[in-house]
Amino acid sequence: MKFTAPLFVTGLKCFVCGSLYDYGNVFTCPKCGIQGILDVQYDYDAIAHNLQPETWNLKPLSHWRYRELLPISPSLNPPLLHVGWTPVYDVSRLARELGIRKLFLKDDGRNPTNSFKDRASSVGVLKAIEFGFDTIACASTGNAASSLAGMAAAAGLNCYIFVPERAPEPKVTQLLIFGATVFKVKGTYEQAFDLCREACEQFGWYSRNSGTNPYLVEGKKTAGLEIAEQMRDHLPDWVVVSVGDGCTIGGIGKGLQEMKQLGFTDRVPKLLGVQAEGAKPIYDALYSGKDMIPTDTDTLADSIAVGTPRNWRRAIQQIRKSHGDMVTVSDEEILDAMRVTARLGGVFGEPAGSAGVAGIRKAVDQGIIKSNESILTVITGNGLKDIHSAKQAAGKELIVEPRFGALAEVLSAVS
Ligand SMILES: *Cc1c(COP(=O)(O)O)cnc(C)c1O
Repeated sequence: MKFTAPLFVTGLKCFVCGSLYDYGNVFTCPKCGIQGILDVQYDYDAIAHNLQPETWNLKPLSHWRYRELLPISPSLNPPLLHVGWTPVYDVSRLARELGIRKLFLKDDGRNPTNSFKDRASSVGVLKAIEFGFDTIACASTGNAASSLAGMAAAAGLNCYIFVPERAPEPKVTQLLIFGATVFKVKGTYEQAFDLCREACEQFGWYSRNSGTNPYLVEGKKTAGLEIAEQMRDHLPDWVVVSVGDGCTIGGIGKGLQEMKQLGFTDRVPKLLGVQAEGAKPIYDALYSGKDMIPTDTDTLADSIAVGTPRNWRRAIQQIRKSHGDMVTVSDEEILDAMRVTARLGGVFGEPAGSAGVAGIRKAVDQGIIKSNESILTVITGNGLKDIHSAKQAAGKELIVEPRFGALAEVLSAVS
């Protein structure tokens, strides 16, 4: 079956050499190889003409409301699952704790498979169908995979997943329940990534690896589009996101820029990228001004434990364009952020999901964020994804005999 091409996509442009390519089933730039990440180009004038303000009210309250800004064929039906349009909370007690005027949490743990990655995977399955594949695969530390497994199940595609040895069990369980075939690769994420790429080439599977698939990051962009729309009248000074591969922050930055270009907002918030101290190749590249150098990784925040980020150029480009910055945080600081975000904000994030909050504290300490500024951070994944880390942050329950006297005793001992 043949599908109409996306209406407003004009082509793809290489981040390294600037070459332009026609729309189609392409990955990286043939001239620049794996470094040559491609960026989807749109006809924004035509989009602006089509997106009249009155029409927004008629659009679905999910990220499919931005179809004109996505590389999706108009003849395809999106999967039934509700992706995006996640809630934004004004959390004043957490703001006070961090020493800032205003803080908003956008809870992307509320997506169908409980992470931000659903934004990308939902686009990925549609690209697979459009390009005629019945099987889709990816390598992932966890969330990209569990989200792909869920979206593939919803869309009726076969799904093969390559996970590194230390992927948290809840995430692997999620894959299996959605019916994906799971290969636990005896090695690092990078090795799982390479094996998956080769399998896709050899077996003719569609690759969802968001580092190199230019269409997936477009799905991640919708969080930036949503922030601009949801926060239109009180756009924050900063948008803070944790950074692994760099697609999330790069995508959000692109979405925010597009909303300015379309006249929806009059400025773009500064982007603050947050990496773990034990996995900070993009931070190092930003500060050295040189190309990214792959590193080993050592952090409990498995979702951002990326030693060879594929989309570092996109991340740095968007951070610079927004006049933003980056910070790094330790595992201790991440665990503290998980606690305060849950206790003062009511949102339970996994380590990478709460790392943004840790980054805000760091940026306030370093004078990067001023106390009179307003900040939005995206909680990128739900805390139940990684119980082992959450337990380290949470503390212990109290053991009590089933008698009131015993309860009163235990209670007086702790209060
Ligand atoms: C993937 C992920 C990130 C980081 O996104 P990148 O595109 O790899 O930078 C952050 N938080 C969570 C929960 C993730 O799953």
